Formats: sequence, structure tokens, C-alpha cells
Amino acid sequence: MAPQLTSFDVAIIGGGAAGIMAAFSVKHHHPSYSVAILDRTNELGRKFLTAGAGRGNLTNRNLDKGPDGFFHGDRSFISSIFTQFGYADIMKFFLELGVPVYEEKKTNKGKIFPVIDHAKTVRDMMVDALREKGISIFCTTSVSAIVQNGDAWNIVSDKGDYSARVIILSSGGKTYPSLGSDGSGYDLATSTGHTIIPPVVSAVPIVSKNLLSHYLQGEKMIMQATSVVGGQDRTTAVGDVMFTQYGFSGPAILDISYDISVRIHREKKTDTSVRLSFFPNTPAGDLRNILEERWKQHPTYPVAHSLWGLLTQKASGAVCAVADIPKEQVSGELTPDEINRLIQTLTAFTAPATDTRGWNEAEFTAGGVDTLEVDGQTLASKKANGLYLAGEILNVDGMVGGYNLSWAWASGWVAGKMQGVSGLGA
Ligand SMILES: Cc1cc2nc3c(=O)[nH]c(=O)nc-3n(C[C@H](O)[C@H](O)[C@H](O)COP(=O)(O)OP(=O)(O)OC[C@H]3O[C@@H](n4cnc5c(N)ncnc54)[C@H](O)[C@@H]3O)c2cc1C
Repeated sequence: MAPQLTSFDVAIIGGGAAGIMAAFSVKHHHPSYSVAILDRTNELGRKFLTAGAGRGNLTNRNLDKGPDGFFHGDRSFISSIFTQFGYADIMKFFLELGVPVYEEKKTNKGKIFPVIDHAKTVRDMMVDALREKGISIFCTTSVSAIVQNGDAWNIVSDKGDYSARVIILSSGGKTYPSLGSDGSGYDLATSTGHTIIPPVVSAVPIVSKNLLSHYLQGEKMIMQATSVVGGQDRTTAVGDVMFTQYGFSGPAILDISYDISVRIHREKKTDTSVRLSFFPNTPAGDLRNILEERWKQHPTYPVAHSLWGLLTQKASGAVCAVADIPKEQVSGELTPDEINRLIQTLTAFTAPATDTRGWNEAEFTAGGVDTLEVDGQTLASKKANGLYLAGEILNVDGMVGGYNLSWAWASGWVAGKMQGVSGLGA
């Protein structure tokens, strides 16, 4: 039997954070329109469930300070979207949904979480609200083609054809394909004339064979991490660094991984490295003074012992080993060369970044639909009428800590306004 054609005013392809918010927005701005969400997985918002380790890192207070939390893309493009649906709007949305929120103080990075610390409950509340508003949800429905047919779109899926007057394409990037976004949305965008900036992993652990990771494997500590590309410092972040068998992970590493990933995977160069400081807020000169004072007070302590308290015992030993200070060396007999090596290791340990981990370990995709081909005010495609784009599918990516979900909410809301389509615009 031929599949039945199902017609809607608006079809949202991809029911992640951006698609969910787009559906709310369409119903808010155009209550009478029929809306369908099509998603290839068996439930909406699967990636959202993993955000903030399952707690649901909804947004970031610092969003209000401008687009600094975003690595690239046209800054005015990003600002224009958040001007229409910013931090206050995101907070209001969740409060009105019935989700009280709080700011995490431990990291002091402005991360906002639901008080219940449970993304699944929040996701289920959003899905219930979508159903209450009469939005049709088609899961396990994988869209393989979208074809413009006069004033409407024909949408080809493995569950049959659908038609819609407007499509909002919110099919995500390429990371964690098991959670739904496998990059097939790029093919849909390309078929309508869009250009894809080659997607590469972002917010991803870094592969680096180095002695510190060797000695400190399994340890985690707050450090300052800087990405260095072609000898130039790029991004610096302060936060947890985890030492792993393959190199480095942890929030600070994910935050600096963008430049390294682009350099290695897009520009095909490996002149990349990671520089770490154990003392994010202490310049090398000040640290030297602090240590010299310690050495004066306890000249017979082995050097590693003299670092205890500033570092753990394990880290102290590792630093001395990396700086090539003999185990038996006592503090009072350090040579100027040894002191320099020690300070260098403590404040500017540099290791080559030879690769990144892959799509199954990256939190975000850098690259995607070129934002120059999308109206910066409405998110309407400049290539095809009746097509809007939202979320990670666009070439916008932000820091870890709520920026990417904020982008998904905000761009979903703006796309759902459907401004500028004749007969449909807000
Ligand atoms: C492990 C992990 C942790 C993260 N933690 C955070 C965090 O703490 N804070 C933060 O801000 N961000 C975090 N992110 C990033 C954030 O989750 C994403 O940026 C955000 O969910 C993207 O939303 P989206 O709707 O654009 O895309 P997605 O959530 O990927 O949704 C896209 C949807 O489209 C569907 N789809 C794709 N192709 C098709 C097709 N052909 N047909 C039908 N459906 C299709 C997919 O099934 C998917 O449901 C994290 C990501 C990961 C992977």
C-alpha cells in the first residue's frame, strides 16, 4: 500500500533542542498553523538528555555579555538572534514551563541548571507541552530528501512522504551519531543549494603523547589551558583538565579544542600544541618568589616535597620527573637551570596536540551551513523559499557550559517566528 501523504503548514525536521523550541515558537506566533516534528530517533531531545552530564545545562548567565562565548561565525549574526531571544527569554521559558532553575556556583562559570538536576524530566515536560499544543510528533522517521514543489515542500522519509508549506531544518551536527544527528541534515541543506563549511569535531578531548599525562593518568585538576596553533596562542580557558592515557580531556581542554581541531582536520596541519599552567592566577615570577621562600625555609626538603600543598603529592612528583629534577635533589641545592625547568613545567608545560578524539566523544560540531546564506534576522534560507534553519546545523559553535544549548533554543525560537514568508510571516 502506498504511504499516505500527510500535509502540514510547518514541518520541523529534527526534534532536538532547536526543533523543540522552534515548534513552541511557531505555535506562539501562528497558533492556527499545523505543525509536525519529524525525528529519526525514537524520542525527541536525545542529545539534550546528555547535556551537563544528564543534569540539563539549560543556558549560561554570561550570554548577556555578548557573543564572547562563541568561537566564530559572524558575531553580529549571533547577536541578532540572541537579541530576539536571549538569556532572560530562555529563563522565562523554563520558569513558565514549570522548571525552577539555579546557577551552579562550584565552577562559577554562569552555568544554569534545573533545580531538579534532571534533563529527562525537563525534556518530558517539553514534549507533553508540545502535544498539549497539538503539535504532531513523528519519531523513528528519517528524512532522506526535501523537494520544493510549487508553494510547498515534499518531504521524503522512510515512513512515507509528508508535505509542508514551510520547513524548519534543525537536524543538528554530526557528533554522537547514536543520539540522532548523523550529518544527514547537511545533505538536505546541500540539496536546496546551501554550502556546508566542512564539519569538524569541537569541544573534544585532545590526543597528545606527553610525559605529564603518562605520570598523571586518571588525575584531574584545575589548570589554565591554552591552544597554540602555528606558534600563536589562540584560546585560553581555566577549569578542570583530566590526564588520560591518550592525552588530555576535561572542560578546559574541550573549551580550547576548537582551534586545534580546525587546524588538524580542516587545514590538515599538525603545528598544534597545548600549554598548561598549574597556577592559573599566578604569573611565573610570583610563583618563583613563593617557591624560593619555601626553599629558604626548608632547604633540606626534596624538591617534590617542597611543592606539597601547592600541588598534590602525586602531581609534585610528576612535575619534578617531567622537569628532570633528580629524586634525591634537595631544595637548597637546586641549580638555576633546574629552577627554570621547574617553573617552566609548572606554568607553561607544552605538549604537542597530534590529533583529537572522534565524533563519538565530541560535544559539538564546528562547521555546518554557511551563515552567510541565511538571513541574520530571520534565519530564513537565502537559497530556498519557505526554508528556515536552526541549531547546530548552522556554522555557529560555542564554549562548553550552556552556550550551545542557548544557541539551539534561541535560533529555534527565531526560526519558528517564520518572519518573511508571504502569508505566514509574524
Ligand atoms: C555529550 C554531550 C554533552 C553536551 N553538553 C552540553 C552542555 O552541557 N551544555 C550545552 O549548552 N550544550 C551541550 N552539548 C551540546 C548540545 O547538546 C547541542 O548543541 C544541542 O543539543 C544541539 O541541538 P540541535 O537541536 O541543534 O541538534 P540535536 O540535539 O542534535 O537534534 C537534532 C535532531 O535531528 C534529528 N535528525 C537528524 N537528521 C535527521 C533526519 N535526516 N531526519 C529526521 N531527523 C533527523 C536527530 O535525531 C536529532 O534528534 C552537549 C552535547 C553532547 C553530545
